Amino acid sequence: MLNLICFSPHPDDAELFVGGILLKHSSKYKIGIIDLTKGEKSTNGDVQQREKEALNSSEILGVHIKENLNIHDTCINHLSNEQLIKVVEIIRKYKPTIILAPYYVDKNPDHREAGLLIKDAIFKAALANLYPKYPVHRCANLFFILQVIK
Ligand SMILES: [Zn+2]
Repeated sequence: MLNLICFSPHPDDAELFVGGILLKHSSKYKIGIIDLTKGEKSTNGDVQQREKEALNSSEILGVHIKENLNIHDTCINHLSNEQLIKVVEIIRKYKPTIILAPYYVDKNPDHREAGLLIKDAIFKAALANLYPKYPVHRCANLFFILQVIK
């Protein structure tokens, strides 16, 4: 079980936008970062560099769980049933009290879609007859992360 999950569209978004919050609370609460993609289409760096940096930052931040859902970068889609199931299973597996997700108004389409995907997955994680691999979990605390980059 985790107290808080931060869903991150790419392997640096959580660290860049809420790293301070995660660091502040990681000694007291169990925190996980779930990256949705590997950021393989990014202009900066490459997948190996991003993975290495993500693992290093997780250690520095004291994050307990760091996983990647391996959704293709630039292809996050809140209407994808496959992607929705992946997120629902994470929510049910770790049973977080608080979820952080990107705000669904953002210039980056992956960030927008991730916000909607997480919002929908939280709703569907509470439906007993849907994707019964893990027991239902109701997370009542969703906070959106406003990611502002010029
Ligand atoms: Zn991003």
